[in-house]
Amino acid sequence: MKKYAIVCKQDKKSIEVSQAIRLELDSIMDYDEKYPELVISVGGDGTMLYSVHKYMYQIESVSFIGIHTGTLGFLTDYQKDEYLDFIEDVKNNKYHIYHRCLLELVANGHTYYALNEVRVENNRRSQVMDIYINHDFFETFRGNGLCISTASGSTAYNKSLGGAVINSSAGLMQLSEIAGIHHNAYRSLGSPLILDYSHKIELRSDNFDGAILGVDQLVFDLKGADRIEIVLSNKKARFIQYRHVPYIQRLKRAYLSD
Ligand code: NAD
Repeated sequence: MKKYAIVCKQDKKSIEVSQAIRLELDSIMDYDEKYPELVISVGGDGTMLYSVHKYMYQIESVSFIGIHTGTLGFLTDYQKDEYLDFIEDVKNNKYHIYHRCLLELVANGHTYYALNEVRVENNRRSQVMDIYINHDFFETFRGNGLCISTASGSTAYNKSLGGAVINSSAGLMQLSEIAGIHHNAYRSLGSPLILDYSHKIELRSDNFDGAILGVDQLVFDLKGADRIEIVLSNKKARFIQYRHVPYIQRLKRAYLSD
């Protein structure tokens, strides 16, 4: 890889780490903000999400890697005190590319892509939505909202909703309820539902007033929309690994070790 860019969280430590990386890498690669082949995200998981969205317009030709400068990161491979190892690894140029699935959704005539999840949330009133799967009516949901996450996003918002953690390489999406109402009059599945590429989820409502559409860290108004269509996209985000961090180790490091 010959061209790189850095996306940096604007705190003191992240800026210091970014400057140190640039000082070393500028002698072997060109810094190209607009068309980089390698994007180095320095910050946290939020910075990685921001990086992926920043380069979504050329998602298939960019590879991402993260250096974490906070306390914990799930989408990042190096800790802040390991940036010298990272520079060494880039210089050695031995890497492996792996892909993370994206969700593709259409709402109000716009197409969006999500690395973690899509959320339809309404905190002002119960949101009623009819859920169709592959054009067939499945159920009517009532409650605060719904979250459709990728395997990568299964450890994020989805996990807080009691959804399953799914190995990040799996081509699966998971539909989880946000405070669903369940009794004899209002019934929906209640458990997270995991679907694959052959499925399209459609959320229909004649009233999305007050609801928001969350696409990873981004938030949009759903006013005027009557449906949201969600599939696993054919586009994928490329992540580069200079050193192998097994998924189970990543999981343990983030949630179980001290
Ligand atoms: P933020 O800074 O509030 O991040 C929330 C937390 O989610 C952070 O601890 C971050 O490390 C973690 N996170 C993000 N992606 C992750 C992933 N794939 N696996 C494990 N942890 C992950 O918000 P932000 O930086 O704007 O990031 C937006 C993301 O935050 C959303 O995509 C959503 O998944 C997550 N979020 C989670 C909750 C929740 O769990 N209740 C609420 C809001 C947002």
